[in-house]
Amino acid sequence: MKNAKSSYKSATAPVHSFCLTPAIVLRSWPFGESDKIVSFLTEGYGKLNGIAKGAKRSRKRFVNTLEPFSLVSLTFKDRTHRSLAFVHACDLVRPFRNLTTSLEKIAYASYILEITEGLTAEREENRALFEHLREGLIFLEEKEPSLSFLTFFELRLLKLSGYQPALQYCRRCGRSWASDFQTQWRFSPRDGGVLCESCSSLRKEVIPLSSDALKALANLQGANSLYSPQLPLPSVALKEGLFVLLRFIQFLMNKELKSAPFLDAFSFA
Ligand SMILES: [Zn+2]
Repeated sequence: MKNAKSSYKSATAPVHSFCLTPAIVLRSWPFGESDKIVSFLTEGYGKLNGIAKGAKRSRKRFVNTLEPFSLVSLTFKDRTHRSLAFVHACDLVRPFRNLTTSLEKIAYASYILEITEGLTAEREENRALFEHLREGLIFLEEKEPSLSFLTFFELRLLKLSGYQPALQYCRRCGRSWASDFQTQWRFSPRDGGVLCESCSSLRKEVIPLSSDALKALANLQGANSLYSPQLPLPSVALKEGLFVLLRFIQFLMNKELKSAPFLDAFSFA
């Protein structure tokens, strides 16, 4: 596996061996008359785009395995001088069929897939991030979606992808909000965290954040697993926190999220 992975970096390597890794299908779209391009989050190789030859025309080779949310065992091979890997085989491990039983679950699952894809780099191994998405999909399949779940998922995703927001202290002067609730705190996507009143006056693109929302976010940032944040956090504060995180994620991805409006119908109604 290691030899095959390093051979990807060597553009002149004439022969590539097959690599096998667990992977989650993020997206797939038609390519040409008979092929599909598939975006995977893999356990061993980070985000990876591959071409599945004949997947559009013949479904025999990739029976229902290229659908979003599917957990698969992926066998691929890198192609010399090509950015797209060759998808040799894709065996279904867990289809997450229950996710498609309700519109609400589809909305949540589509959203967490989209933000995971947007915040991860290609070909950078990040096993903890892969595990986080896998656990997120399992949670959604087995439990009811909740604002706490979504907030925790986003905060952990941001941490694992290297963008953990600073929520305890002012990003610029270091003042702690825990000792200063009188101040109007604001979130600055550009600074990657909260700013106190005087520091935020220097910034234009800041979002007001109530002390309840700040407490809820800080609380969930300290939680250990998707199953632990079943704390009685006020939904008003969570909605406010989610709105801020959405703005932050959109800032990091530098684009509007396709699945966000769909999710709005359930989360922010
Ligand atoms: Zn400050």
